[in-house]
Amino acid sequence: MKASQFFISTLKEAPADAEVVSHQLMMRAGLIKKLGAGIYNYMPMGLRVIRKVEAIVREEMNRAGAVEMTMPVIQPAELWQETGRFDKMGPELLRIKDRHGRDFVVQPTSEEVITDVMRQDIKSYKQLPKNLYQIQTKFRDERRPRFGLMRGREFIMKDAYSFDRDQEAAKASYQVMAAAYRRIFDRFGLTYRAVAADSGAIGGDLSEEFQVIAATGEDAIVYCPGSDYAANMEKAEALAPQSERKAASQAMTKTATPGKATCAEVAELLAIPLETTVKSLVLATDTLDETGKAVKTQVWLLLLRGDHDMNEVKVGKVPGLADFRFATLPEIEEHFGCKPGYLGPLNLQKPVKLVVDREVAALADWVCGANEADFHITGVNWGRDLPEPELVADLRNVVAGDASPDGKGPLAIERGIEVGHVFYLGTKYSKAMNATFLGENGKPQFLEMGCYGIGITRLPAAAIEQNHDAKGIIWPDSIAPFTVVLCPISPDRFPDVKAAADKLYGELLAAGVDVILDDRNERPGAMFADWELIGVPHRVTIGDRALKEGQLEYQHRRDAESSKVDASTALDFLK
Ligand code: ATP
Ligand code: MG
Ligand code: MG
Ligand code: MG
Repeated sequence: MKASQFFISTLKEAPADAEVVSHQLMMRAGLIKKLGAGIYNYMPMGLRVIRKVEAIVREEMNRAGAVEMTMPVIQPAELWQETGRFDKMGPELLRIKDRHGRDFVVQPTSEEVITDVMRQDIKSYKQLPKNLYQIQTKFRDERRPRFGLMRGREFIMKDAYSFDRDQEAAKASYQVMAAAYRRIFDRFGLTYRAVAADSGAIGGDLSEEFQVIAATGEDAIVYCPGSDYAANMEKAEALAPQSERKAASQAMTKTATPGKATCAEVAELLAIPLETTVKSLVLATDTLDETGKAVKTQVWLLLLRGDHDMNEVKVGKVPGLADFRFATLPEIEEHFGCKPGYLGPLNLQKPVKLVVDREVAALADWVCGANEADFHITGVNWGRDLPEPELVADLRNVVAGDASPDGKGPLAIERGIEVGHVFYLGTKYSKAMNATFLGENGKPQFLEMGCYGIGITRLPAAAIEQNHDAKGIIWPDSIAPFTVVLCPISPDRFPDVKAAADKLYGELLAAGVDVILDDRNERPGAMFADWELIGVPHRVTIGDRALKEGQLEYQHRRDAESSKVDASTALDFLK
């Protein structure tokens, strides 16, 4: 590629809304251009990176026996109604109507469609196992799209789905994918960790996230430097025994007298000022019998944690975070008969013990509020910023220095960016959609499934968070937009320089090296600044003086200085 033909547009300054370095550098290097909130043009330079990420993913997925296909971006709602997700999924699911008023969704993921495909085609256990994947545009109407491609609304995901005859085979398919993911992330050349993740309602241990380590990561991950124990914070907390620190910070208990509590009374009871801001709040009431024993626990108040989506709200069955799970808004409304974030009037018949989660009550994030005058705290504001990560970590059930569950030493905590996720699904979707096959015994059985995602467009952002300096991006070779850039100095004045650059360019192309020749006739300073910003890992400068001595200058993007290379050996050196 010649720079004069390519599309290069670099900026001196990043736009004001770019908060993290990857977003800033992607904008400045001209990799992406914003079209709307969480929606970006992938510019030619950025698309080259994305294509390289895709190529590695595709190669390793194929090697692992998965087969590529493509499913529609726009999907009929009927399939999503079969699994209930059309209603359950909350506002992250973009629902649209066609001219006839029929409902459709823009795919955030594709379990329904792939299950529909497979129930039509898989008749017998003899056709199993199968693993199908696509690399396709997704849309999630994220509550807070931010950080550029890191949390976009439109993004590209590789999503794969495995189908097996029984649980054992499905677990084997899962392990094949987990191993393929390790190969994929090794090839990207990034520092990452595979961590155990919560497998939600399905249970079991077959859910892992692949987290690229970066201080700006949105996820906290817990690991043991002395062993291979690693889990995301949710999983680690769910498994951890209740620590004293946690117990002390968790519950403030007060006894309320029977009757209706006004919002002012509740606020006072909870020791939170009316207009206070809390990160999240779970208020549970234990109904006590005459002896003071709790006979019933009910959750009255459900407020969002600041770091979760609108449709993921913590639901408490009993006080104690380990017992909480995530539920969707409609589930909560149905179960508790009130909207999350609203404090239902406390119509107390018997003495109750009110327990508020202190971790959350102590933190400032948002104002809780409600819909019925005088029985609620007013002034809901969902949109406040997240609390500082340190503040959260400090009050966690699991903190650095705690003993690792495997007994192999103290735990450490670091932050990560979720770039991949492997998940054993079981028969959740095949049951809901009646996707069966005839087993060896001649009887219909539900397909056993797994799903496996990689954030194709999130990955370059994660790579930049991990690899940059004051001058710009430093790409690992495997996903660099170009691996080598040739920079001839004043080729219009020095025909030898132009000739040497053209020759080396031709040879590198012939050798299959992904090279770009900067033939724009820029001043050296401006030219170097561009390539340092864009982050091409290998740069060769062809200057008149060195060339007279038969030499070129080579500089790796991480090197402070250039070094001389014999022009005659440059090709071998760069291949
Ligand atoms: P997150 O926790 O960051 O919201 P997720 O757990 O909702 O991600 P999955 O449903 O597991 O995401 O999707 C598979 C992969 O898709 C993720 O591991 C991530 O790399 C990528 N991904 C998810 N949401 C986004 C997004 N909004 N923008 C870019 N990539 C995303
Ligand atoms: Mg998400
Ligand atoms: Mg996640
Ligand atoms: Mg995930």
